[in-house]
Amino acid sequence: MNVLVINAGSSSLKFQVIATDLERIRNDNDELLCRGQVEHIGGEAIITVQSHNGSRQKLTAPIRDVSAGLDYVLRWLASDRSGIDEIRSLGDIHAVGHRVVHGGELFKESALITDEVSKGIEDCIDLAPLHIPNNLRGIRAVREIFGQATPQVAVFDTAFHTSIPEYAYLYALPYHLYRRHRIRRYGFHGTSHRYVAFRYCVLHGITREQTHIITLHLGNGCSAAAIRGGHPVDTSMGMTPLEGLVMGTRSGDLDPAIVNLISNKEGLSTHEVEALLNTQSGLLGISGLTNDMKVLQDELREHDDRRVRLAMDVFCYRARKYIGAYLAAMGGADAVVFTGGIGENSSEIRARVCAGFEWAGLTVDATKNQDALGREGRISTDASRLHAWVIPTNEELLIARDTVRCVLGEPHPS
Ligand code: ADP
Repeated sequence: MNVLVINAGSSSLKFQVIATDLERIRNDNDELLCRGQVEHIGGEAIITVQSHNGSRQKLTAPIRDVSAGLDYVLRWLASDRSGIDEIRSLGDIHAVGHRVVHGGELFKESALITDEVSKGIEDCIDLAPLHIPNNLRGIRAVREIFGQATPQVAVFDTAFHTSIPEYAYLYALPYHLYRRHRIRRYGFHGTSHRYVAFRYCVLHGITREQTHIITLHLGNGCSAAAIRGGHPVDTSMGMTPLEGLVMGTRSGDLDPAIVNLISNKEGLSTHEVEALLNTQSGLLGISGLTNDMKVLQDELREHDDRRVRLAMDVFCYRARKYIGAYLAAMGGADAVVFTGGIGENSSEIRARVCAGFEWAGLTVDATKNQDALGREGRISTDASRLHAWVIPTNEELLIARDTVRCVLGEPHPS
C-alpha cells in the first residue's frame, strides 16, 4: 500500500509517500518513496521534492492554497519527471494519513476519517484554532482530488498522552473552567514520543509494559514525556505547545502573572504577549541572535558570546529539571532518550543535559555520545544504572503505519 502522509500548516505542506502494509510493518521494511514540502503557500511557492532514487528537485509556482499545493505535488508525483516508478497515477496512492495537531479528549487513538470523525475534529478547533483549520483543509483537499473512495486517517499529536492521569493533567484552577472549556494539559509531539518508545522496546526486545523511559524531543519545539509501562504518565507541553521546556522561540514555563505585566509595561495586548511568548522567546529571545541551536553552538565556539551561553544554559537547565521531576514522578526510569534535531545531532547539548545525574546512576560515555550523531545508539557508560540513548524520530512512518492499520481495521499494537 502506498500511503501519502500529510502535515498541512498555514502556509506550508509537508508530505511523504511510504510503501507499507501489515507484512512490511511486521518485518520493519517499509519503504520511503519520496518526501517534500511546499513552502510560502498563498504566493510564489517553493516546492522541494526528493525521491528515493536520490534525485532532488526545487521548483517554484504560484500556489493559492493547500488544495492547489497538494494538486501540484500529486501531478508532479504521477508524472515522468518525478522518476518514481511506483506512482504512475493518482490510483497508485492507496490511502492518506494526516498529522492532526489536536484530538482533545475525544481521540485516544488514530481514526479512519468518516463524517463523524471530521465533525469530532471540527469540535476540537477551539483547542487549537490556528492549526486544526489547516489540518481540515488538507483533509478536504484530499477528498476533492481523490474522491470519497480513497481512505483517509487522522493521527493526533495529543493521542499518545491521553493515558496521563487526572492529577497530572489538571491545572489548579477553578474546576468549572475545566468543565466549561476543557482547560487542562494535553501534551503534543505524541507521535514522536510514541515512535521513540516503540523503537526503544524493539531495540531492547522488551514489551511495551516493560518500557520505563523519559523521552526528550528537542527540536525547534521541545517536549519531555515520562513513559511508565509504555504509557505517558506526564508530559511537559500543556493546553498548548507553549508550556514546558525552553524551545527555539517559545518560552516554556513561566509565571502567568508575567503576561499582564508585559502587557502593561510594553503596551501590548494579551494576544500580542502570547505571540511574543511563542515567537520571540526561548533561545531566540535570550540570545537575541537566533532560534537555531547549531548556529548558537558555532557562535559560542567562535565568539564566546555571553547571551548565547546564557540561552544554552537556560535551555539545558530546564531540560535537566524536567528529567529530575520525571524521575520522581515515575519512581525511577531505565533510560533517558533523546530525539528531535537537537537531541539527535548535538552531543554537546546531550552531555550538558545529562551532567550531574551521577547520583541517579547516569554517566555519559563521551566517545559513544560523540559517535551517536543522527543515528540510534546508547550514549551512557556500560556501568550506568540509568542509561541515555539517541533514537531519531520518524513521525511520518508511524502515521503511515497507523493509516494501514486503520484502513484494514487492524487493532493498534498494545
Ligand atoms: P522541527 O521541530 O522544526 O522539526 P528539528 O527537529 O529539525 O525541528 O530541529 C531543529 C533544531 O535542531 C535546530 O535548532 C537546529 O539547529 C538543531 N540542530 C540540527 N542539527 C544540529 C547539530 N548538528 N547540532 C546542533 N543542533 C542541531
